[in-house]
Amino acid sequence: MPIFLVYHKIRDDAAQDAHAISPHLLQEHLQAIRASGVPFLEPREFQPAQNGVVITFDDGTPDHDTNVRPLLDKFGARAIFFVSTDQLDTAGHLTRAQVKALQREGHVIGSHSHVHKRLDLMSPEQVREQLATSAAVLADLLGAPPAHLAPPRGGYDATVRAVAAETGYTFCRTMRWGYNRPLDPLAIEIAPVTGAWGTWFLHEALRARNERLVKTLFFLKLGLRDSLGPLDYRKIRNTVAKLARG
Ligand SMILES: [Zn+2]
Repeated sequence: MPIFLVYHKIRDDAAQDAHAISPHLLQEHLQAIRASGVPFLEPREFQPAQNGVVITFDDGTPDHDTNVRPLLDKFGARAIFFVSTDQLDTAGHLTRAQVKALQREGHVIGSHSHVHKRLDLMSPEQVREQLATSAAVLADLLGAPPAHLAPPRGGYDATVRAVAAETGYTFCRTMRWGYNRPLDPLAIEIAPVTGAWGTWFLHEALRARNERLVKTLFFLKLGLRDSLGPLDYRKIRNTVAKLARG
């Protein structure tokens, strides 16, 4: 079954941001994948039954153009880039021209909704408007509507799933942790590779080891976030990230 990896910013000043990692660490991950013998999957021809790794990048930040593209080229890997269409051509985000270039080079552009807000907190009508608008913007820019959706901030529920299917998305990548055994195309699980224990998660996922532990850690993390509130949770997460970096 496919292992999905989620990355955010790839920058040298990554220590400021719990989700960001350095280009050097991304290169180490790509080397670890190659050394494991698990193939990089071709996202343009993605099929649910394939075995391999699908690399995804969220938020359409400029480092995806400057830092990620050359690294992926070096490894002959292609990725899915999820962009929030309202952010294209705005400060701190990819331009339309950069997104087109990524597609031309064989990468896949997916929808990260229109505005970067949690869909699970919206009404079904608002979710429909977000997903339809984003699909229309990408269809206009790239010649075809996107097959892949990744809801911002992991805001995913039954309504998001139903509306995604209705509005023409084939795949929905969540932020739930797991190895997709079996893969549910509208609820794809991820291995969390940019957090404090990212490299550990990557190695376990490549060997399909400890899935139950990974799933348990995910529910513990959710529970911690819900019981602490976002501010305290973020403080703890950032402290753990700092400790893990040494
Ligand atoms: Zn995002």
